[in-house]
Amino acid sequence: MLHHNNTLAEVVSVLLEMLRTKESEVLLRNTRDAVKVKYIARCGDPTKSAIMSDLTRYAAELVIYELDQTVTELEMSGRTATAVKCDCLFYSSYELPCRHIFDERRKSGN
Ligand SMILES: [Zn+2]
Repeated sequence: MLHHNNTLAEVVSVLLEMLRTKESEVLLRNTRDAVKVKYIARCGDPTKSAIMSDLTRYAAELVIYELDQTVTELEMSGRTATAVKCDCLFYSSYELPCRHIFDERRKSGN
């Protein structure tokens, strides 16, 4: 920890250590994300692979999460969803395919 009575050398040393720690955190995060992308790309699911290649990683993770959700009839009963649009909060917020759109597509065989 830095104090007002530290020497310049001590301050520089602490700042360099903070920088090294930050760089390690960034490297760890980038490696973890790359492993996640590789895992999804190699999972053999062509839909998920296409999502990963067409969207940013953030958007792809959101859409894949929605794709993996199951929707109950009760949840769909008050919803206006088609194969391309939906009135739910997820679709309204991101304009990305939601679980309801995927459910409609599954029902229609697409
Ligand atoms: Zn929806």
